Amino acid sequence: MDASKKRRRKTHPKRGEGWRERIEPHAKSWSVGFARRAARQILASVLLQSVCAYSTLSSLRSVHSELGSDNKTCVGGTCMKMAARTAGAAAPKLVRKVIPAPSPHWVGNGFHVFPVFGELAFSEEMSPWLMFDYAAPKVFEPSKTRRGVGQHPHRGFETITIAFQGEVEHGDSVGNRDVIGPGDVQWMTAARGIIHEEFHSDKFAATGGTFEMCQLWLNLPAKHKMDAPRYQPMLAHNIPTVTISSDGSDDGVVRVIAGEFRGVTGPTLTFSPVDLWNVEIKTLHKPFELLLQEGFNCVVFVRSGRVEVGEAGSEKVLGPAATALMKREGTTIRLFATSPDTKVLILAGAPLNEPIAAQGPFVMNTFDEIRKANADFRSGKMGR
Ligand code: MN
Repeated sequence: MDASKKRRRKTHPKRGEGWRERIEPHAKSWSVGFARRAARQILASVLLQSVCAYSTLSSLRSVHSELGSDNKTCVGGTCMKMAARTAGAAAPKLVRKVIPAPSPHWVGNGFHVFPVFGELAFSEEMSPWLMFDYAAPKVFEPSKTRRGVGQHPHRGFETITIAFQGEVEHGDSVGNRDVIGPGDVQWMTAARGIIHEEFHSDKFAATGGTFEMCQLWLNLPAKHKMDAPRYQPMLAHNIPTVTISSDGSDDGVVRVIAGEFRGVTGPTLTFSPVDLWNVEIKTLHKPFELLLQEGFNCVVFVRSGRVEVGEAGSEKVLGPAATALMKREGTTIRLFATSPDTKVLILAGAPLNEPIAAQGPFVMNTFDEIRKANADFRSGKMGR
């Protein structure tokens, strides 16, 4: 794709004005129904799990303090970079749970998605990741209809959209308007509040074609939930690629969207230590190993192909749209592709160890804060 042509069109003419008036108070939002169902169970289970998670977090924090890096320097991936250098012996990470491919559902009229995390969405087990919707490759006929999700708010977290095939157009209340295409990533920090819309681009709608994308929700640490919103459009050519080869063969590539892999740092600024890697494995029946920081939560998601995950002898087999949640212990993710064209997404990060209160498009730490978010949205204070 010609990246220069799809970089920002002119920003929204009124930079934030005019959005409020067109919002319907109960506009359908991304995963609203699912989030609502899940939210009821979350707070209680999180409070229990956070006790178990505490020791892991303490050890991460001590790594940072030994390096003279306290939590305040974690903005911008600084502490993540330092922590990665301290990775210890390469113990294998074992599979904790396999989440089979869930049933897909429609978000708006444009995104036919698998709710990848299933019942584990918005749980401490996935922290700092909250939610993952995957739109598997699907052919759309040419159309004049606008396909997608209209204006809706978010507060308290980040949304990350990765376009694999087709184009997604985004517009928001702080003046960003962008189209992302294959390989591009849009990293939106809603923080204290943003109102946005997400559609197939006009060009894609007109020509039709195969559409594949995903949207991830990444939690913000409590102290950053009310920061100013931020928008990071990362075009494919800005995302570094690490080629893995051995014995003279090209075994595969790792695109570092965020975090660090083998000394290569992704371009994304993050608020806590996070890795997001897009992996393509070319050589079959050969171990493919990825090193992570100790104590990270880690999810292995299969976009296409088939892969064995985990230690030799106890590995689990994953097919398309299936997910493995790895144990926190250990540092090495071992993948073993058994099918050509195996593509995997790795989501990892230091668990936040903070209560999660999620309802609809808002993710805060308490339900009082959720009520405040609803009130702010209704009274027009959000997205300005
Ligand atoms: Mn949204």
